[in-house]
Amino acid sequence: MSYTSTIGLEVHAELNTKSKMFCGCKNEPHDSEVNANVCPVCMAHPGTLPVPNKKAIEMVLLFGRAVGATPADFSEFDRKNYFYPDIPKAYQISQYAYPFLTGGKLQSVELTRVHLEEDTARSQHDKGSESLVDFNRAGVPLMELVTEPVIHDAESAGNFARELQLLLRTLKISTANMEKGEMRVEANISVSKTAEFGTKVEVKNINSFKAVESAIEYEIKRQIDLLESGEEVSQETRGWDAEKSKTFSQRSKETAKDYRYFPDPDIAKIQVSKEPSFEPSRLDDIMPELPSNKRLSYSNLGLTSTSIEVILADSRLDDYFMTVYTQVSSSPTIAKLAANYLTSDVVSLLNDDAYSIETLQVEHFVELVQLVDTNKIGSRVAKDLLPELFGATATPEAIATEKGLLQMSDASELVSIIEQLIADNPEVVQQYLAGKEASIQFLVGQGMKLSKGAANPQTLRDEIAKKLAV
Ligand code: ADP
Ligand code: ZN
Ligand code: MG
Repeated sequence: MSYTSTIGLEVHAELNTKSKMFCGCKNEPHDSEVNANVCPVCMAHPGTLPVPNKKAIEMVLLFGRAVGATPADFSEFDRKNYFYPDIPKAYQISQYAYPFLTGGKLQSVELTRVHLEEDTARSQHDKGSESLVDFNRAGVPLMELVTEPVIHDAESAGNFARELQLLLRTLKISTANMEKGEMRVEANISVSKTAEFGTKVEVKNINSFKAVESAIEYEIKRQIDLLESGEEVSQETRGWDAEKSKTFSQRSKETAKDYRYFPDPDIAKIQVSKEPSFEPSRLDDIMPELPSNKRLSYSNLGLTSTSIEVILADSRLDDYFMTVYTQVSSSPTIAKLAANYLTSDVVSLLNDDAYSIETLQVEHFVELVQLVDTNKIGSRVAKDLLPELFGATATPEAIATEKGLLQMSDASELVSIIEQLIADNPEVVQQYLAGKEASIQFLVGQGMKLSKGAANPQTLRDEIAKKLAV
């Protein structure tokens, strides 16, 4: 009998509130000078009192509505006790018995719970002989999501994490960049030949989607190999070494008992259902359109699934596309063509810092697409014209007219080009006349060049054939 692998994920996401979770310090853990955003509260000075950040709670509840989770009626914060240099109080404020959310589903993966806690400081062990600590991150609001053990392969786990990142970004509650540690995935993995779960191993330090998949694949194989050679899997926490592409043992797993959780006596209990700003109807008012819904409407418009994912993954592109479709042209044909240009040519231009989407006037972009749609310019010309539209005041039609790039679909416009083609390429013409039909393709190519892409290739081909048939 073969092994079934079981995976449950624990994901932390830094919420992008203005201030930290329990004090007024700036929530800027990544881009500030070290230890710039600290105060007596997040440095745990005696006599200070933490005050929960309402906006962070609202963000978690908004997330809950997006995934169909049940919001808590009553909630509280607990102290999770452990001693470590990156935790100034010697305990972390977290939640234990009463998380803000339970249940819900994302990409058909059931969620166990979502709670709110404070992030730890950041230790740096690579700065000379001493270890240094940067407290800018200490006290940053951190949302922790736990899934049920219902994932069975590495790819589905990776896709779940990608979809979660997209949702966090759509809700604008986290930038969720994995490389920066704004979103951190821990994977619990076990294998078993029977209906009962095997011993699980937790893998940490995973900082990309690719690493989520590789770490799980590695761990499944390691566990099966162990069992097959008659050994046991020990319950432990392992790290992911991206360079060596393997997991390594870090420590044996702590249990809830080790942390001696108890309700934080310094923080008032929260009656979630009695708080007007947490009311579901209010949350619905600020709820943006969700990715699942967007996929559906974009697919109904006729966009390809590749275009859809590229647009959804970049909110600037998505906003731009929505402006095209809802404010400038409601034609599905134009929308489809616009999506194609946006997700290919525009995206590749945007990779170059010289081009920013703010400088591409939506009206100009739509006009360019319409010129292509009505065959006034060819796709070659559109590609050449596009970079010139960034920051331009003239319309694409004006630029195309001035440069003589409007498509020549009229046979009479092509006469002089065809004459020149025949004069310039006597050998190719001879080959064609001798029966080598494919030679005409070369002449069409040369003709397109001569016309700077303005000739309609089909008309050009027909006219060359007509001319040579005489
Ligand atoms: P712990 O008490 O060790 O923290 P939990 O029951 O809270 O364990 O689960 C933590 C995470 O591990 C969850 O995401 C859960 O889905 C997952 N998990 C639990 N048991 C298993 C298992 N046997 N195999 C894989 N994942 C598991
Ligand atoms: Zn502070
Ligand atoms: Mg647990």
